[in-house]
Amino acid sequence: MLSALIYKVRRRQRLGVIDDLSRKQWLSLAQLQEASDVQTRKLACHAASHVPYYKKEFQALGLDPAAMDFPGDWVRLPVLDKDILRQEYVNLVSETDHGQQSFVNHSGGSTGKPVQFISDNILYTRMAAWMDFVFGWAGWQPGELRLELWGNNDRTLPPTPWQRWRAKLGGSFAVPVYKYTEKDLFKWWQVTKQLRPTIIYGYSSVLADFARFLESEGYRPTGIKGVFSSAEVLYPEQRLVIERVFGCKVYNQYGSRETPCVACECPEGGMHLFIDWNRIEFVGSGHGNDGDSEIVITPLYNYAQPLLRYQIGDLGRPRVESCACGRGYPLMDLNVARSGDFLRGADGSRFYTSLFTHLMDGKGWVRAFQFVQKAENKIVLHVVAESGVEAKSLAANLEAELGTVLRGKMGNELIFSVLVVERIDRTRVGKHRYVVNEMQNVRSA
Ligand SMILES: [Zn+2]
Repeated sequence: MLSALIYKVRRRQRLGVIDDLSRKQWLSLAQLQEASDVQTRKLACHAASHVPYYKKEFQALGLDPAAMDFPGDWVRLPVLDKDILRQEYVNLVSETDHGQQSFVNHSGGSTGKPVQFISDNILYTRMAAWMDFVFGWAGWQPGELRLELWGNNDRTLPPTPWQRWRAKLGGSFAVPVYKYTEKDLFKWWQVTKQLRPTIIYGYSSVLADFARFLESEGYRPTGIKGVFSSAEVLYPEQRLVIERVFGCKVYNQYGSRETPCVACECPEGGMHLFIDWNRIEFVGSGHGNDGDSEIVITPLYNYAQPLLRYQIGDLGRPRVESCACGRGYPLMDLNVARSGDFLRGADGSRFYTSLFTHLMDGKGWVRAFQFVQKAENKIVLHVVAESGVEAKSLAANLEAELGTVLRGKMGNELIFSVLVVERIDRTRVGKHRYVVNEMQNVRSA
């Protein structure tokens, strides 16, 4: 296949990283932990010598990065949150060539706190290699095409012959998804038939919308080896409909712009943490409904602006068991909640996204929804109804049903209403949010 040949010639660097990953995945947990410590120490030494913010931090702690213990000495370093990154942005940049050979990146619009940071140039190749590597877990081969339901490009569909040709040779085609209607979903289906991808990659909510559309119209995609879901929490109902319609497994992924390539689900369903790419810590407990921890990540290959112990704003938990697939990378719990995505009860207690999404289980007439907390005692549920249903009466029933449940959990003063809307806007970075807290200073509460 010509496209496979082009891939092998053009992606030489990427192939080197993939080979490395292919070998390392079968190392033992202890060997991978050792590799993680080695990379962490290397980055810490760089930071302590060449990054003004960390020169001060290591000095103040009297910590020699070359001699420090893991995890004992390491956890003495303070956690870096988004506020510190914003304030110390300049002081966090490396004084070496890494700081020069880099690009400015942005993240985090979904929690209402966008942040700017700097990524090392080498991260492009590494991220692309990692993606190709995990696509390989689903059986993807070089030269095969992936369809990305991702991004905000202004491309119009269907693609021109030239765009199709480029996509075939380049191995990917991205469909703009920030705003879409049923007409667009039909165009995506046409693109799928034309380009015959083996991998589909995108936001969980978009993938599920597309799958529901295909199912309701009776369209059956073929030849898809894996669907990769990223950037949002993947809910069980979404997984079911995607797997049913695309006829393959959904692979959940976890990472962020600042900390790419953190975890990916393997064919056996284990969410593996790539600890030699990102050092991952689960700090504290009792933050979520079920005692989840704050996830703290050190991306180990960003020398341009090292982020040591970066508090990403997500909650999760580690799993101690090993995976049936035999890979040594440790596991985490699949459900990751944004720590900013919670609503607050009258007594100040927090209720996380998963509670609200569970309330909507089995509500087949609802195409999309969003719980919005307007004030301490006021929550409005926005719903987009499927076409052809009696939305008004269904909404009234839903208001009565959920009102009782929510008042039981969040306090009797709660005023709960359901509003049928035409659409629910995505965030600036294109994510769908199931829960929005419009009250001020919710994070410091
Ligand atoms: Zn596994």
